[in-house]
Amino acid sequence: MNLDNIITLLTQEFSNQSLMDNLSHISQLHRIQGSTNFLEATHYIQSILNEAGIKNTLNEFPADGRSEIWGWIAPISWDIMSAELQLVKPIKKRLIRFKDFPMGVITHSKAADFEAAVIDAKKGDKGEDYEGAHGKVALITASPRQVFQLASQHGVKGLILHPNPQRALDIGGKAVQYDGFWPIENNLSDVSAGFSISQKQYLEIKQFLDEDKEVIVHFRVNANLKHGQLHVLEAVIEGSEYPLEEVIFIAHLCHPSPGANDNASGSASILELILSLNHLIQSQRIPAPKRTLRFLWVPEFSGTIPWLKQYYDNKEILAVLNLDMVGESPSIIGTPLQISSPSLSSPSFLDVLIEWIAEKVAAYPIKSNDG
Ligand SMILES: [Zn+2]
Repeated sequence: MNLDNIITLLTQEFSNQSLMDNLSHISQLHRIQGSTNFLEATHYIQSILNEAGIKNTLNEFPADGRSEIWGWIAPISWDIMSAELQLVKPIKKRLIRFKDFPMGVITHSKAADFEAAVIDAKKGDKGEDYEGAHGKVALITASPRQVFQLASQHGVKGLILHPNPQRALDIGGKAVQYDGFWPIENNLSDVSAGFSISQKQYLEIKQFLDEDKEVIVHFRVNANLKHGQLHVLEAVIEGSEYPLEEVIFIAHLCHPSPGANDNASGSASILELILSLNHLIQSQRIPAPKRTLRFLWVPEFSGTIPWLKQYYDNKEILAVLNLDMVGESPSIIGTPLQISSPSLSSPSFLDVLIEWIAEKVAAYPIKSNDG
């Protein structure tokens, strides 16, 4: 059977509706690496694989902020239940609520319930930025992960991140940035609570500060940081002739809700791919692959590293296809698909194959059964 036939059959089998339903389910979960919601997302995919009779395994690795592999330290588990940032003075106003906007809470924020005055610490990456900040909440533009220890040394109670003017130009006045503390065991005690607000919200607060008005906010965070697990889900279609030679499909399942593009899209796509391939093989419309196809749903980096470490070394990985943010339209965002060849130092058939497939796909009237 040639590749043209397989592409035609796969296109007929593939269901956009099923893919979108799964994407929508995954995107409702706040899937931070090592969180209960991430685990829930793996259970959801696992139940679909089980229903289709596809062999799968859920691997567990520590998320304790101290386990080290190849110089990389595992993150710490974090679960968030609710959070809210209220402006209390000079006017009462809700700025961020987790329920409405999960990305407005800095990942790994500690539990908090306090009122404090706000100061503008500018970038917040130098000691002098935090002058007079003791016991207060600091507005910063630097990444919290880079400055939270410095802020803690100056007695800062909480952090509010906002985009710097250049960043605001790039992302717009109403967008907030996603960021986290990413602590490890050694600096865990320096972590505070943090929110991420838009430039528009920052400018309103700055106006009050410029008018010498006292600005008070209320931080409420119901979350916990703890030793937990990272989960990597893998499913396999075994090769009929060379089972130890493998092609791997990988998608990172993590990220804040909704994260529909990054990366519920890649996760739901490889799920629909294995379901389609499995169904075509079971119904004998295509032969079983000669080599093993392995599908992985991982917490980005943090799950790939321990998984690779434990991966059996008697197997040969022939190729890896990573599906990351496949849900966007390149023509809308103005970024063409770029294909890079393997370097000359690691010659492979892959560059010839990918060029051939890219030309095929470009010429192919791709439409699934449901349009
Ligand atoms: Zn991503």
